[in-house]
Amino acid sequence: MSDKIVILGSGESGTGAALLAKYKGYEVFVSDAGKIADKYKQKLTEAGIDFEEGRHTEEKILSAIEIIKSPGIPDKAEIIKKAKKAKIKVIGEIEFAGRYTNAKKVCITGTNGKTTTTLLTYHILKKAGLNVRLAGNIGNSFAEQVLEECRSEKVEDRNSTLNPLPSTLIYVLEISSFMLDSMFDFKADIGVITNITPDHLDRYDYKIDNYVDSKFRMVQNMDENGVFIYGMDSELIENKLIEIETPAKELPFSIYPDEFDGACGDEESITIQIDGKETEIDLTKSVLKGKHNVYNTMAASLVAISLGVTKETIEAALQDFVNHPHRMQFCGEINGIKFINDSKATNVDSAWYALDAIKEPMVWIAGGVDKGNDYSALYEVIKGKVKALVCLGKENEKLFKAFKNHIPVIKETQSVEDCIKMCIELGTNGDVALLSPCCASFDLFKNYEDRGNQFMEAVGKFMYIK
Ligand code: ADP
Repeated sequence: MSDKIVILGSGESGTGAALLAKYKGYEVFVSDAGKIADKYKQKLTEAGIDFEEGRHTEEKILSAIEIIKSPGIPDKAEIIKKAKKAKIKVIGEIEFAGRYTNAKKVCITGTNGKTTTTLLTYHILKKAGLNVRLAGNIGNSFAEQVLEECRSEKVEDRNSTLNPLPSTLIYVLEISSFMLDSMFDFKADIGVITNITPDHLDRYDYKIDNYVDSKFRMVQNMDENGVFIYGMDSELIENKLIEIETPAKELPFSIYPDEFDGACGDEESITIQIDGKETEIDLTKSVLKGKHNVYNTMAASLVAISLGVTKETIEAALQDFVNHPHRMQFCGEINGIKFINDSKATNVDSAWYALDAIKEPMVWIAGGVDKGNDYSALYEVIKGKVKALVCLGKENEKLFKAFKNHIPVIKETQSVEDCIKMCIELGTNGDVALLSPCCASFDLFKNYEDRGNQFMEAVGKFMYIK
């Protein structure tokens, strides 16, 4: 009888892990307390993997030698507590799949900017002609891609000395703090922490130190061949670095010029310095705008230059990069008012950067599920710029209170269409209407994508009516 691995949660990552575990000869059982999407059921069935949905059958789960859990399941979940009590190791998909590939792993985490930096890094490396794949919190499952690798190249396991993988294959992985929490022996070759500001504190016992520690698991196994790239303007990162040491090569980035190996710059250009070699990258033709994107570009460029990519390739990639939707996405113009969808800004810091990036007078749309926000951090950036606030949420009391002495007009609505109407009434030619909500979306929408899509649809509708 082979050893049994149980997968908890059968989304993209869980299904991928199940398929890889099966291929590696384990007995595999998949258990999902919710519904499993048809496409994943089909994959499991085709691979002959036993699964259940709508419940967790304890006897089947607690007989595993190892459990691979979805990052969405907190350690406080009953079944995880029981597994830990039974001394069953609980890991995540990245940890598991990392055992079976010797490819280079570029791992990107941070409170904000993960997706943008990950996609930009992938785009630059791809343009440079490197053999690069995208995975983690984005795109296709890492484990399933590793499985593909195993199938096509008959790769030996990581610990085997036979047939090591050609080092040319590179994974660019977006890694959330929840994923990091179930990573133990996984080693990043290049690790990036874009920034750290308070977020998700409900999962970290409301202790910021726990959240910072989670992010720093990124560097936990890095050796002297590793490269650690981080945003040094982030106070929480700088403070943590006083405490810890890593043998990896440190390449910080900052918007404040100084003499150090790393990157610094502004919206015009950035300068990368590594081992005394300086590279200047022009940002004037970059599609990515705003200070936050200077940071993201510095991070991605540091990865690229560390991997030998040229300045010309980086500059070209910056011109034809297409970001994921809902991140400062232009949706259309009505009466000369430009509508921008930044629905992914679900915390104060990300909204700060959106508000800072826009130079025009603005109608700002915010609201939703407040995660314990301190809005005073926004008073300076909205000064003289935000002429009206439209609160789009179920409970708007806190926003009203926070901004009543800072924004001349504050309105509220629970309807996206009314929200667009209000923006048209409140704005004039040359203004921007910015949806950058600072809050999660679950009060009125399925998720931030749904909020952004409804917003864009409504903008489209009013453009059409005109
Ligand atoms: P993540 O994947 O970490 O959520 P995204 O790249 O999807 O990051 O961006 C999420 C939100 O944060 C967007 O609204 C975006 O405008 C904002 N943002 C992007 N990069 C940064 C950054 N470096 N610092 C602060 N905010 C950022």
